[in-house]
Amino acid sequence: MTGPIKGTPPETMKAVVYRGPDDLRLETLPVPEIQPGELLVKVAVCGVCPTDIKKIHYGTVPPPRVFGHETAGTIVKIAGRSRNFRVGERVALHHHVPCLRCHFCWHGAYAQCAAYKRTGITAGFDPAGGGYAQYVRVMPFVLPGVVKIPARNTFLEGAMLEPVNTVLKAVKRLRLLRGDSVLVAGQGPIGLMFTKILSLRGIHVAATDLMGSRLKLALEWGAGKAFRADAKGFARDLRASFPCLDAAVIAVPSAAAVGQSIAIIRDSGQVLLFAHTRKGEPGAVDFASICLEEKDLIGSYSSDFTLQEEVASLVFSRRLDMRKLVTHTFPLEETAAAVALAMNPTEDSLKVVVDQTVTANNGC
Ligand SMILES: [Zn+2]
Ligand SMILES: [Zn+2]
Repeated sequence: MTGPIKGTPPETMKAVVYRGPDDLRLETLPVPEIQPGELLVKVAVCGVCPTDIKKIHYGTVPPPRVFGHETAGTIVKIAGRSRNFRVGERVALHHHVPCLRCHFCWHGAYAQCAAYKRTGITAGFDPAGGGYAQYVRVMPFVLPGVVKIPARNTFLEGAMLEPVNTVLKAVKRLRLLRGDSVLVAGQGPIGLMFTKILSLRGIHVAATDLMGSRLKLALEWGAGKAFRADAKGFARDLRASFPCLDAAVIAVPSAAAVGQSIAIIRDSGQVLLFAHTRKGEPGAVDFASICLEEKDLIGSYSSDFTLQEEVASLVFSRRLDMRKLVTHTFPLEETAAAVALAMNPTEDSLKVVVDQTVTANNGC
């Protein structure tokens, strides 16, 4: 943790700039200027998120940009007066807030709102989160999503509010009753969060993955049973233990997992897609399972800032202890290595973060 912030921020800073597919460079940028109503935040921790990894790897957005949107840090400057924030406060940032007044917002589809799609946090260039830089500018329209970090909690926990929010939002898209059973396909960081949040809500979780280490963790995180999805007789074993699956969450970008889940859930159940964010990848669906058996195939994307209070209480109370999910920490200079590890997970890697307090405190 950093100490109190004194003095004026410097004129330049280090930032990791996306210059093209798989091309991240450590550069010197001007510290962002802030306008009235805006905050300047010194970044402490920023999580590495799969959606950013995809943008970096496939080059789906034009460079240059500074990514990183799972950000926590300290307010070092406020332009004009602020009733809600003070310099020196430790905060968890939130980069998307909907307008609440458009067609999509009236239907609760915040992630499709035009205002929501505007990113309100930047370290320079087209706003893209900016968490892989030393300072970010936080615009007024995203301030309703900013949460103060309690004294007992870490920056790392603050940085984890955003991914937890996306998971809680998806869980709320499922029609579940206490005692129901849900298959969570994929026990990476996101899958494990699903497993934990569902089990905290009294849901029986069947977890699947291809890595033994992750299956073991799934049991620790609340799964009733864990299965290797590539094992012979997997579907039969799953059915034997969970004859009535009310829903399936697909937290791996696998088309086979979707088809299998639609077939395996009970009539009127739901299959929720969480990892299929790449366009142009069609798959086969048995339409009768949707029409005749009334199964729903739904998706969930991004976060819902109206859930921030509930998310903060989950994380800061440590009922969902996100510190246990973070296995690897990199200094800002090694952001490219952090992204590479998150893109190619190992048996012992889960959530990867860039922690700018590491160098300051430990020199490692
Ligand atoms: Zn994210
Ligand atoms: Zn809207």
